[in-house]
Amino acid sequence: MNEHYPFINPPLPYEYDAIEPYIDTQTMRLHHNRHLQTYIDRLNSILKDHPEYQTLSLEQLLMSTDSMPAETRTDIKNNAGGVYNHIFYFMNLQNPAPKTPPAPLLPFLESKYKSLDVFEEILTKAALSVFGSGYAWLVINAFGNPDIITTANQDTPLTMNMYPLLNVDVWEHAYYLKHYNKRADYVQDWLQVINWNRVNQNYLNYTKRYLF
Ligand code: MN
Repeated sequence: MNEHYPFINPPLPYEYDAIEPYIDTQTMRLHHNRHLQTYIDRLNSILKDHPEYQTLSLEQLLMSTDSMPAETRTDIKNNAGGVYNHIFYFMNLQNPAPKTPPAPLLPFLESKYKSLDVFEEILTKAALSVFGSGYAWLVINAFGNPDIITTANQDTPLTMNMYPLLNVDVWEHAYYLKHYNKRADYVQDWLQVINWNRVNQNYLNYTKRYLF
């Protein structure tokens, strides 16, 4: 991933068939090669006419949409969000995946949710509660505590003063080919392929950046 414009579609850190049988090869291919690629192409095409934004990183673009003129704000928010959310989703998948998060992430989650089972139950409910298209997230909220939230469309937690650790894409294109309309089955399968070491690394990055 380039730090700024022109953005490129980073190759997946695994093969398209690596997440079988939980997420099928064709879904992974279309999701990465078509859906994410389209967000990247659209974002680059918008930024082409805005040299003033071309040195901004993806995160900086998302954080500064409120200062942009109305006619570009929505386009950049949706497309930069689409790029950010998808890269984040793909990076946090792995197969086979660790059964449980390592420390210090596990005790951090248990401090609020008591057990991994309870955490997964609440995250699943959140993912099923998204009406239409969006994501469920594990984030660190402004008080430094773990939290589970949902976002609509391609909104991100970055603009809500929250630090993302993990997300699940519940747009239908993320599961329809294999799971049809059964989002609950997809979420159940997705829970089996979470790259907990990577999520733990996200947590460590947070502690390095914000805790002294
Ligand atoms: Mn998607």
